[in-house]
Amino acid sequence: MKVPFAIPDCGVEEINEVISVIKSGWLTTASRCAKFEEDFARFIGTKHALAVNSATAALHLGLEALGIKAGDKVLIPTFTFTATAEVVRYLGADPVFVDCDRETFCVTATHMDKALKVQGSPEEWSRQVGNSTGQAGFRVQDVKAIIPVHFGGHPCDMDPISEFAKENGLKVMEDAAHAIPTRYKGRLVGAFGDITCFSFYANKTMTTGEGGMLCTDDDEIAKRVKVMRLHGINRDVWDRFSTGASWEYDVVAPGFKYNMPDINAALGICQLRKVELFREKRERIAKIYYEELGEIPGLILPRLHCDIKDHSWYIFVVLIDRDRTKVGIGRNEFIDEMTKRNIGTSVHYKPLHRMTYYREKYGLKPEMFPNAEWVFERCVSLPMFSAMSDEQLGYVVDNVKDILG
Ligand SMILES: *Cc1c(COP(=O)(O)O)cnc(C)c1O
Repeated sequence: MKVPFAIPDCGVEEINEVISVIKSGWLTTASRCAKFEEDFARFIGTKHALAVNSATAALHLGLEALGIKAGDKVLIPTFTFTATAEVVRYLGADPVFVDCDRETFCVTATHMDKALKVQGSPEEWSRQVGNSTGQAGFRVQDVKAIIPVHFGGHPCDMDPISEFAKENGLKVMEDAAHAIPTRYKGRLVGAFGDITCFSFYANKTMTTGEGGMLCTDDDEIAKRVKVMRLHGINRDVWDRFSTGASWEYDVVAPGFKYNMPDINAALGICQLRKVELFREKRERIAKIYYEELGEIPGLILPRLHCDIKDHSWYIFVVLIDRDRTKVGIGRNEFIDEMTKRNIGTSVHYKPLHRMTYYREKYGLKPEMFPNAEWVFERCVSLPMFSAMSDEQLGYVVDNVKDILG
């Protein structure tokens, strides 16, 4: 038996839709993309949904539309994928890394507030953390925005985060790459911040192969994103080439090439129809993990601060507490054992403050992020995908029990 960490769940509908796009003779951005955007906006409940070729592109365009520029600071969690941080650098601004909660692995308003107060004050910084340059001692007024990440599909506690942002005059852009569909207080994630960005990368909860979506209720932001995702041209290619349209166009800014091709959008249309079903299948897997693995010493299952139904279950992150396990096995040995038994696992994430570029550029040290460090030392993600069979699930469960004694 072999169990991959994750595989996309595409069926005959996806195949047929893609074939029909190819047969239509129009492969890049056009009617399929427009329909995908309409469907997505209706699903999430936002005024605008703008498709692009990755979530990274969406995050970049979002910050650009919010007016983030060189010298600005943006608060982001250290416990995330590098895309959340790199887009800040694309614009010459600097990320300020923030610790996370030990139970949800999400960033909280408390952690952001602390980052502002402590790191925004060189004296306070050297008192609490010791001598350091880089991230310490920025001017609080340079902080312009925050990017909360709904880690693994668990919603961030958005009420205090929104309040914190409002008090400090900060824009909110949600990184919801893990969070389709995730609910916070009964409402789908996608309309709490000024902007929300979703990912349709191949291993996410729904996929277009590569792709992303930017959602917003703000007309000005939407207008800017539409222009900047396609070369800074003031109308899109579909307009230009559809019959009857004028040849003329203007370039109003040095934009990017971030549009989503119709081949990808065709996948997205089909996947979106099934995304609630996918979530239910993932939830069922999560429930079986909770039932079967709940009593194993040294194995800490995800602690929920939300209803199990409000979680997208993008990943199932467990913690291995070596000292409590019967066999004295740590995270790395656990992964080696799983690999030997042909079970795919992954680590989400090695925190960004441990990555060479960010560590060196901003003088980051592990002791600045005690919670992310604590989680990182222990975390491993078990296989989680909607197409997982009961045999595969049983095989994972049996082997986890066997490895941890
Ligand atoms: C996957 C991911 C992204 C980037 O998504 P792409 O569509 O691959 O660009 C951004 N942020 C987080 C947290 C992610 O997991």
